[in-house]
Amino acid sequence: MSKTFSIGGIHPNDSKISANAAIEDFPVMDMAYISVSQHLGAPAEPVVAKGDKVKTGQLVAKASGFISANIHSSVSGTVSSIELLPDIFGNMVKHIVVKVEGDEWLETIDRSPDIIRETKLSSKEIIDKIAECGVVGLGGAAFPTHIKLSPPPGKKAEYLLVNGAECEPYLTSDYRIMVETPEQILIGVELMMRALGVDKAYFGIEENKPEAIKVMKKLTSASYGSIKIVPLKKRYPQGGEKQLIDAILKRQVPSMGLPIDVGVVVQNVGTALAVYEAVQKNKPLFEGIVTVTGKCMTEQRNFKLRVGANMNNVMFAIGGFPKDAVKLISGGPMMGKAVSRMEAASVKSTSAFLLLTEDETKRGEEGNCIRCAKCVDSCPMGLEPYLLNRLSRAGRLDDLEANMVHDCIECGSCMYSCPANIPLLDTIRLAKAQVIKIIRSRPKK
Ligand code: SF4
Ligand code: SF4
Repeated sequence: MSKTFSIGGIHPNDSKISANAAIEDFPVMDMAYISVSQHLGAPAEPVVAKGDKVKTGQLVAKASGFISANIHSSVSGTVSSIELLPDIFGNMVKHIVVKVEGDEWLETIDRSPDIIRETKLSSKEIIDKIAECGVVGLGGAAFPTHIKLSPPPGKKAEYLLVNGAECEPYLTSDYRIMVETPEQILIGVELMMRALGVDKAYFGIEENKPEAIKVMKKLTSASYGSIKIVPLKKRYPQGGEKQLIDAILKRQVPSMGLPIDVGVVVQNVGTALAVYEAVQKNKPLFEGIVTVTGKCMTEQRNFKLRVGANMNNVMFAIGGFPKDAVKLISGGPMMGKAVSRMEAASVKSTSAFLLLTEDETKRGEEGNCIRCAKCVDSCPMGLEPYLLNRLSRAGRLDDLEANMVHDCIECGSCMYSCPANIPLLDTIRLAKAQVIKIIRSRPKK
């Protein structure tokens, strides 16, 4: 029987209209805009200068600080500038701009189609290789993977959980890699198990992806026996780390805690593929699968997109900005964010671009709270969104902390359920950021 998490959740239409669009190579662009801040933590430090020649896969910025990640060029050509440019959300970030000349890859990258399972590398060597190749979590947060695979002293991982839920509506990039490159993903999972020193992995896939479940079950029963495929109920936000752990292991991550506090490390399927490519093919993370979708598009797409392609490049590849579209979202409709600049470029963790029409973006007029408690019923973290909204609007930070606003996972389920169209996620997200800042500024006990 399919598993699921204990409380809350919603059932939006999954709108996986791009599920049957096979992955296509995205045409290499003329210019690449490579951000040095594509991960959680400190920005990487450029190691190239204006006028330098670079090859595809070459290190162009080095991790700086404990939580950071290396950045590699996604193209070959000449560095034309290093400058502050807006990212997808409008923040000014240092970018390495490369004028593309041909597509010459580093000779050390194995571009053959051979699938390599064997490795003699130790746990430390695997983690070092993942760090060297700049792999970050591709499930959203872009946390450097080598750090997640190195639990702090006193903590030990018992299980690796692989997130193949892809519960966000419209997104199909994870689904496509599960059906097109399943074995590479499973080898990536084995490598992460070896890195963590665990002998069991659970791989959760939502039941609206029967083909992926079938392919993965067939492979694991034939030769990847330490990885168990777990079908999950179609329910949002099934792919949230805490919800996945609850669904599969019935363990609860404590407030402000991490999965490792309950003996678990969670990694996304895209990350597993990037780990395979880094460790077995010597390929740094400089491209990824990106869904470009929307009901206003005549053809749905899943592209293998190089990091640093700007929105104009993406729109050109789909035949231009669809005439009915009024909004471009990076990510899905629940957790994605509106793209503010067409010159902004894709990053390692970009998973989708969603185009919406005016009708699809209309929010109903905000009314008064009718105390129906639908927001409470839908919250997967057991919070009281109507109350958090009120406290946020009143700026009552102490009460917000007492009511655990910091536990909000920003899934948007409350706002989706609210019949009064109250922008609950907006006000709660704002309050959460302020409360977390206060909590982090306190001296550690
Ligand atoms: S956005 Fe936060 S408060 Fe709203 S349902 Fe999700 S976890 Fe709960
Ligand atoms: S769902 Fe909306 S109207 Fe209902 S209790 Fe929550 S905030 Fe109020």
